[in-house]
Amino acid sequence: MTIGVLKEPAHETRVSLLAEAVATLTKKGITILVEPDAGEKAFCSNPDYEKSGAQLKSRNEILSTADIVLCIHQPDESDSDSFRDNKLKSKIFIGVYQPLFHIDRIKQWSASGVTAFSLDMLPRTTRAQAMDVLSSQANIAGYKAVLTAANSYGRYFPMFMTAAGSIAPAKVLILGAGVAGLQAIATAKRLGAVVEVFDTRPAVKEEVMSLGAKFVEVEGAADASKAGGYAVEQSEDFMQRQKAKIAESIAKADIVITTAQIPGKKAPILITEEMIKAMRNGSVIVDLASASGGNTPVTKNNETFKYNGVSIIGNSSLQSTMPGDASKVYGKNVLNFLQLILTKEGQLNLNWEDDLVKGSCITHNGEIVHERLK
Ligand code: NAD
Repeated sequence: MTIGVLKEPAHETRVSLLAEAVATLTKKGITILVEPDAGEKAFCSNPDYEKSGAQLKSRNEILSTADIVLCIHQPDESDSDSFRDNKLKSKIFIGVYQPLFHIDRIKQWSASGVTAFSLDMLPRTTRAQAMDVLSSQANIAGYKAVLTAANSYGRYFPMFMTAAGSIAPAKVLILGAGVAGLQAIATAKRLGAVVEVFDTRPAVKEEVMSLGAKFVEVEGAADASKAGGYAVEQSEDFMQRQKAKIAESIAKADIVITTAQIPGKKAPILITEEMIKAMRNGSVIVDLASASGGNTPVTKNNETFKYNGVSIIGNSSLQSTMPGDASKVYGKNVLNFLQLILTKEGQLNLNWEDDLVKGSCITHNGEIVHERLK
């Protein structure tokens, strides 16, 4: 069994497997091939990989000889010939391919005979937690969102009583208490802020309160109990009532972190331009939902700008600003997933009865196999 680790596209700083994780696989007799400089931005050098037992090989060699290819993002345009010419037939790719947003590419993959596992499609079950890349990366994004906001905010987060006067604590509003939102709450509380939170899933109320934040309830959210833990789209009536409550909270907020997303859909607009205009000069909004449209109508993905004195930071990949730890936990998720599809001796063993194997596979045997994509 040979597993290859590709270098990610130029915009990415992370790598799918660090040198520290290589030995776990080589002990099983698996050969690990790494594209030169794959780990450079994640503080893992070529000699680090070689010392851990991996071999440095060119991208072409990895694509032609590896049985399993690890790459967080889909291979780039320069690899499309390999897909078109069926050179990758029956190879396994493991990464985060966001297939619900890239259906044309997934069709190309299925036509090329690739077996692709997209870890963002794993069911959100207890057994899947150890391989849940969305959680490990969102945790980092939530933490970094607060630090990014604090860095842009020209005032203190904690309360101070000093001889030079008193400072009131920053008021932080968090929209969406999933993995990123909960970590943002914890981080903002550690910095001494007063935190208010909205979410459509009543199930998170207790978790929010246990972190010391206030949960603002809006009655009548759509039932999401059959959506695998995710949120669902809300009625127009609910959205109007929710916006009215958010308007009350946002007028008092100094920092807003937005994380609200609905899988495969455009992110809901929770903040209007009027609400932003009501915010205090110098306030900051960090929109983690920017890649799927953003939670404000003015968010620009991967851009920071001022709107009426408020800094609006659109960034859905803050995990990439911490490439060391982001790659470490991502790699651990991948190792845990590999345990599912490999025997103890390192041989391939795809058990299609396993809900995690089935639930994360998007293309196999020349077909799109995932129910949600079909
Ligand atoms: P997400 O990134 O899809 O969404 C972020 C949050 O935004 C969610 O809490 C969602 O309810 C909220 N949201 C959506 N629309 C909203 C609106 N109109 N107003 C306010 N909030 C809104 O979420 P996530 O972090 O991926 O977590 C989704 C679910 O998966 C959670 O229930 C989480 O507990 C669960 N989960 C399970 C596992 C597991 O068991 N393997 C791992 C991680 C997360």
